[in-house]
Amino acid sequence: MTDIGVGSWPRRRARMDPGAVALVQGDRRITYGGLARRTAALAAALSGLGVRKGDRVAYLGPNAIATFEAFFATTSLGAIHVALNARLTAPELSFLLDDSGARVLFLAPETEAEGLAAVEASTTRPRVVRLAAEYERLVDEQAGRKPPPVEVALDDPALILYTSGTTGRPKGAVLTHGNITWNTLNQFAHFALGHDDVALCSAPLFHVLGLGQITLPTLYAGGTVVVIAKFDPGDFLATIERERATAFPLAPTMLQMLCDHPAWEKTDLASVRLVVFGGSPVLERVAKSWLDRGIQALQGYGMTEAAPGVFMALGRGARERPTSAGVPHFFVEVALLMPDGRIVTGPGQGELLVKGPNVFSGYWNRPEATADAFVDGWFRTGDVVRLGEDGWAQIVDRVKDLIISGGENVYPAEVEAAIRELDAVEDCAVVAVPDAQWGETGMAFVVTRPARRLGEEEIRTHLRHRLAKYKIPRYFTFCPALPRNATGKIQRRVLRERAETLRLNDDLS
Ligand code: ATP
Ligand code: MG
Repeated sequence: MTDIGVGSWPRRRARMDPGAVALVQGDRRITYGGLARRTAALAAALSGLGVRKGDRVAYLGPNAIATFEAFFATTSLGAIHVALNARLTAPELSFLLDDSGARVLFLAPETEAEGLAAVEASTTRPRVVRLAAEYERLVDEQAGRKPPPVEVALDDPALILYTSGTTGRPKGAVLTHGNITWNTLNQFAHFALGHDDVALCSAPLFHVLGLGQITLPTLYAGGTVVVIAKFDPGDFLATIERERATAFPLAPTMLQMLCDHPAWEKTDLASVRLVVFGGSPVLERVAKSWLDRGIQALQGYGMTEAAPGVFMALGRGARERPTSAGVPHFFVEVALLMPDGRIVTGPGQGELLVKGPNVFSGYWNRPEATADAFVDGWFRTGDVVRLGEDGWAQIVDRVKDLIISGGENVYPAEVEAAIRELDAVEDCAVVAVPDAQWGETGMAFVVTRPARRLGEEEIRTHLRHRLAKYKIPRYFTFCPALPRNATGKIQRRVLRERAETLRLNDDLS
């Protein structure tokens, strides 16, 4: 019986460095030996609850040591870990419980009310294992036991991770043990992580940025992962100093909050050597703030379906191209789908296509969405990307966010970046609204910094020097904050609805 799945990682590391610290949360520290023992006991408990190869086991809660234990225990049985978004409401969660057909649900105290209501409303009615009391009891009861051996191959599914739902309802991407393993190996071709690394895990583990970038690779390499349940910029900076953190993945908005924080200048960042960010565009000034502190701050681009790495910047060259997403990962192939249907390799601009052993083969229960996602064996990313002569990629925008105004293409990301150059602007998003004359036009939602005044005319004057006239939004709306999801992505669907209401009410300045 061979098991080369991700569930075997703690056991393999425990063979090499049993005493090394694998996971830290607050005052708790767990060695690789401890992690392997607890994971085996939990797997035995799951097996006792009837979980078999191919069954789904869901986890709901903020980042915790238990999230990793549940992930490794479930996958070591050949069962599939379903990572549920801890910010969802009970009806959304009950849909996902039924969609995945979860047999067991691990439920953290922070999300207990929503989780129990979701189970109540579901038809599958998973067996709930509550943290910490029942969970710890199961681990204690099974201490020293081992689950029955199972054959786990790289092509077996390991994880259902839901996409962010930026363009529609979240889709459950099924990632195999192989997808996760190849993504890990791809990262090692870009930068080394080793047993001396201390990675901070603050990006949510129910999103691929939190799980796949740096975090799992650090555990593969025998380093330490410090688990952070809730991101707070001041606490995060303090944790860097306290734990002597060396690496972390974060969304660009979080990097911005850190470098704009009053404690930024005086925080000792000497231990940090690697920061990987992605998921949405980064401001040049934010990337530079990190690079200027002597840190290798690398932009990555990817998606849930690619586990997630597609492009990653290189340490050499990042300073000259602070907003570029870098070059393809070692085992990843990319091409461009042109408007006339031709598939070409770069340089040029088109919809990015991706192939590689890290790319998933389908969505859970969504055969149509799966069929739409592939063309000639390539995964269609839905993103417009410009591949430069030097092989580095610039992410332009999503195909679906494109605004077509009077027949001209306007990419919101370009307009947003121009507006965000203004000092008084803290955040900004541009969405399409229907327009009788131009078909579509842009509406900009602008958030100004506290105590800073900024008028529409001032923004327009600034944009006139930078952008063609047709790119300048017709409407500007000032608001206190933008709706963003747990990985810092702007929820454009919410803004589009708001824009439509504002336009219809003619409630515009
Ligand atoms: P859904 O597929 O449900 O609409 P989503 O695409 O936002 O949601 P994710 O898989 O979490 O779900 O995100 C992947 C997407 O994030 C990419 O397709 C791309 O649009 C965006 N993205 C990722 N990295 C970057 C980056 N470095 N710069 C700009 N955008 C990025
Ligand atoms: Mg997507």
